[in-house]
Amino acid sequence: MVVLLKQNPDREQVESLISWLQDKNLQVHRSEGASRQILGIVGDSSRLDIDLIAALDIVEDVKRVQEPYKSANRKFHPEDTVIKVRDTQIGGGTLTMMAGPCSVETEDQIIGVAKAVKASGATVLRGGAFKPRTSPYSFQGLGAEGIELLKLARKETGLPIVTEIMDASQLPLFDDIDIIQVGARNMQNFNLLKILGAQDKPVMIKRGMSSTYEEWLMSAEYVMANGNQNVILCERGIRTFETYTRNTLDLAAIPVLKSLTHLPIIIDPSHATGKSSLVAPLAMGAVATGADGLIIEVHNDPAHAWCDGPQSLKPEAFDALAKKLIALHGFMKTEEAAS
Ligand code: PEP
Ligand code: MN
Repeated sequence: MVVLLKQNPDREQVESLISWLQDKNLQVHRSEGASRQILGIVGDSSRLDIDLIAALDIVEDVKRVQEPYKSANRKFHPEDTVIKVRDTQIGGGTLTMMAGPCSVETEDQIIGVAKAVKASGATVLRGGAFKPRTSPYSFQGLGAEGIELLKLARKETGLPIVTEIMDASQLPLFDDIDIIQVGARNMQNFNLLKILGAQDKPVMIKRGMSSTYEEWLMSAEYVMANGNQNVILCERGIRTFETYTRNTLDLAAIPVLKSLTHLPIIIDPSHATGKSSLVAPLAMGAVATGADGLIIEVHNDPAHAWCDGPQSLKPEAFDALAKKLIALHGFMKTEEAAS
């Protein structure tokens, strides 16, 4: 349920409405709309008397929210969510560029790539330490050692780190990680989502390969319902009948999710296509469509990468792309301001 308050409502009355709702075991999220405050109410509000609330002096309007996702709903929180990570911000009109190798391999590799992508304008370093591989015989990631190498790369460059958690038992190792990634294969691991909801690090949830927008938003809701409002969504391509590309990038997800939710949306053109030659055009398409940022695989020597070499950009190619992305993002912002 959403309660739209009148302009400049009496503070005491607002506080007493909030405590009354909380006494009924409901969670109340306060947020500022363009000109009004909004109270988003989560929990079983079916027994609440809407007319009674609507009749209060401070209330302009009350609406039930039909969608099953409440905290993630744009109706609850009309302004874009902006997530602060160290010196950078994700969402709210900024362009986030996450870049780095699929997997952390060696100290030289991760530090070399981190320095290169930072010089090109990347704002977050990516790198997998725990890898969800289709084959149990493939490289499974360096695990705890990979996390330590990522921290070393952060120390060298100042770039915050995003890396994937595969299981809740790994959480203690993520104590000093900046953004915790939930991979496509774990999007509906509800136990993991609940546990990530009970801690406060930002969580980036990749879309399951055959998940609908609503299922994806419900995964965000799991994290938010457990207390953590810092959720980022990442579209990384879905399974279709097309086999030429690794997956099919759903760019429509950007404008659709922008209308349904206030959470930032990041696009992963690397896993979406599986081919390095397709990363640049789709990354440009994502920025033109309004994405809040990208996550791009970059490797110093893609031909010898331990994982996902064919979709990885060399640092020089990332540098050229980053320049174009920054220019296009600037153009889009000017257009938006003019319209
Ligand atoms: C990754 O980003 O390293 C990854 C495994 O991606 P996804 O979960 O989208 O397959
Ligand atoms: Mn990969």
